[in-house]
Amino acid sequence: MSRVDRLLLNDPGQCVDEMLQSISMQNPGQRLLKGHRVVIREDVENFRKKGLVSLVCGGGSGHEPFAAGFVGEGMLTAAVAGSIFASPPPNDILAAIKAVASPAGVLLIVANYTGDRLNFGIALERALALKLKVKMVVVGEDCALESQDKTAGKRGLVGIVAVMKIAGALSEMGKSLDYVVQVATRAASAMGTIGVSLGGCSVPGSGSSFVLDPTEMELGLGVHGEAGIKRLKILSADDTIVAMINHMTNPQNASHIRLQEGDQISLIFNNLGGLSVLEMHVLARKAILFLKEKLLTVVRVYFGHLMTSLDMSGFNLNILKLDEEILICLDASTNAPNWPTLCKSQVTGYDINSISLYLAAKEDADFDSEQKEQVDAACDPTINAVLKAITNACQALIANEVQLNELDTLAGDGDCGSTIKRGATDILDKCETWKALSIDKILLNIASSAEETMGGASGGLYSLFFTAAAGLAKDLNMATICDCLQAGVNAVSKYGGAEPGDRTMLDALTAAHSSLQNQIKKKSSPKEVAKVVSKACCDAAESTANMKARAGRASYVASNLLAKPDAGAVAVSIWIEAFAKTLAV
Ligand code: ADP
Ligand code: MG
Repeated sequence: MSRVDRLLLNDPGQCVDEMLQSISMQNPGQRLLKGHRVVIREDVENFRKKGLVSLVCGGGSGHEPFAAGFVGEGMLTAAVAGSIFASPPPNDILAAIKAVASPAGVLLIVANYTGDRLNFGIALERALALKLKVKMVVVGEDCALESQDKTAGKRGLVGIVAVMKIAGALSEMGKSLDYVVQVATRAASAMGTIGVSLGGCSVPGSGSSFVLDPTEMELGLGVHGEAGIKRLKILSADDTIVAMINHMTNPQNASHIRLQEGDQISLIFNNLGGLSVLEMHVLARKAILFLKEKLLTVVRVYFGHLMTSLDMSGFNLNILKLDEEILICLDASTNAPNWPTLCKSQVTGYDINSISLYLAAKEDADFDSEQKEQVDAACDPTINAVLKAITNACQALIANEVQLNELDTLAGDGDCGSTIKRGATDILDKCETWKALSIDKILLNIASSAEETMGGASGGLYSLFFTAAAGLAKDLNMATICDCLQAGVNAVSKYGGAEPGDRTMLDALTAAHSSLQNQIKKKSSPKEVAKVVSKACCDAAESTANMKARAGRASYVASNLLAKPDAGAVAVSIWIEAFAKTLAV
């Protein structure tokens, strides 16, 4: 869908010049040629003296970073920009040729569009009349057209960027103009590109380039959104890639690219402007895997925004058949700002299910030299008591699911009970297998259950609580439990940002902690401790009904609507009561 009326521009008439100024300001290796829409290498005078072939490319604007983004050592010497989607005038092209001309010669790299062929052709003729040495390579690699009887021939798409890269590397190697023409032509004819789009783009000052029904996608469109081969019902990413590659390689299609098993290829994944990087990666993944199934070897993938159509939600896939020389040229270094830098290693070979794509994740046991001894400590009565207390706490929480959800409905999104039930159920399912573990390991397992099964704020907060508590859980005496509670409270407060009094689970937890501290000082009996701590915790949970919420979702709800206690705090009072009661028996 177009957003043409909401573009972040100043004046559509100025945007091309402002864009060119911005590019040159950002890249110290580039300058603007005065009086022309030409971006040129800052060191062009030194470059000319080296006797290397100069490269000039260009075309309409709106395709950024093409072409100015590829001006630099190892790629273009100059780039000429037209108005949006309009070929540059011969005068600007000639100015670029004159600025870069040297006895080694100038190569014009031109995408196959009638306007570009004409304007670059006129400039070339005028340069020849000035006795300058200039040649032109036209790149047209669009695989969309099913018959080639159209006089304009294959359209030029993103493949031109690879041609610039190859020609730029050859120039740096000191190759002659004729040689650069020969290899650039060979590369251009060894590639194919196809585009797909979910809609048109927003042309500043005009309108939407074309409009698609939201259920459709256009396959095989030109870089300005020229009609494609067909409109399809929108496909999944994987099916889109399969449709594209099948079309590109279909021998019935006159413009297909001939690929054979064992061919080494590079891919360009060119974002036309409006797809997310995430979508692009999902698409690229399928292409790499699908081409491998066809027994092709993807040696390099160039990924990103190379030649866009403003904000079009689409992309091009370019496939280039590699030979040794072309690969060396692609790998050669460049400081052009927008050529994707990537590792120079093969892409095919990774299998989604093979270990080569993955490094093994570390298990907790990898860090735990005491693991074996703990396994031997099975059937410890203390552990049995802890597990019993945990079981009762979980059962109590599950039994109160509805009540907790109701409380959370008033202040949040009504899921606190269900969230806690998920964690409690998981713990109940697993705790039978924890008999051989030490207390700290059991608490870490509870933290994992919370993290993996609960979700919501309380999932994360309970994970933090039990992880921190585990750090101090060396035995089951009251002082240790008190320290564990303190550590858990600190962690919840540190990462959740709330404090006691903010109407959260912390109110119940801190009340339990202070009351336990008092009972330890008083040396009360275990039964008494359990009773007093549970009551303090329940009272604290109740008292949250009168508090102003300063954390969690409840903080966005008007105070007068928060007449009942906080769900998270009540949940704490439920499990602490059950836990304490069981341990005191
Ligand atoms: P969510 O808001 O993501 O749905 P839950 O429903 O799982 O969260 O849990 C809500 C409970 O989490 C609240 O009742 C409150 O006790 C607790 N809570 C939320 N934010 C915080 C926080 N920053 N610190 C401590 N407790 C919090
Ligand atoms: Mg909730």
